[in-house]
Amino acid sequence: MKLVLIGAPAAGKGTQARKIIAKYQLAYISTGDMLREEVAKGTDLGLKAKDIMASGGLVSDELIIAIVKERIKADDCKNGFILDGFPRTVVQAQKLDELIGSIDKAIYINVPDEVMLERITGRLTCPKCGASYHKVSIPPKQEGICDVCGSELTQRKDDTLEAGKARLATFHQQSEPLVDYYKEQGHLFEVNGNKDADSIFADIAKELGE
Ligand code: AMP
Repeated sequence: MKLVLIGAPAAGKGTQARKIIAKYQLAYISTGDMLREEVAKGTDLGLKAKDIMASGGLVSDELIIAIVKERIKADDCKNGFILDGFPRTVVQAQKLDELIGSIDKAIYINVPDEVMLERITGRLTCPKCGASYHKVSIPPKQEGICDVCGSELTQRKDDTLEAGKARLATFHQQSEPLVDYYKEQGHLFEVNGNKDADSIFADIAKELGE
């Protein structure tokens, strides 16, 4: 199964992706995580991406397509994969179709903007395993510590109000057209993301098949 997750920042893509890979044994590909790793390592790619990411913009299609093209060749992708945060533009979606033929399903997690901003500014993320929490609504069991792997939680540099607003605007301008793109292909599944993670996952699992 080849899946794509679409949704604005903090719509719950990462949380749902983790549930999906556990149930359907798919490889997990997050372009955001891959870029953050490059930034942390200080590679050329990381240096190119750093400021763009911090400001809430998108790195170039060319660059991100090159990363994904390599990643989907890996062995763990043979049984299928889920892409979280890619494609983010119609050009990227067209390129993906060229690379793999066609995806099976694009899951669009739809959440109102005001809910997203509240989630972004309260989000705490585990830099090691990627699990995410919210200061108020989904606090970790022990303050500041990841329930899953015990690492210290951090706030992403782009999870501020200012960068969050910019990322939402970027989503509406550049990524929302993907909804129509996949609708026209007959591959779109839209799910209401303004509810708890388990209910959202139940809707997704119903669509993907138990
Ligand atoms: P994410 O963790 O998916 O929210 O991604 C964090 C940031 O990485 C985004 O705000 C972009 O700056 C960059 N990024 C991730 N995926 C892509 C993509 N497919 N195209 C362009 N930029 C991306």
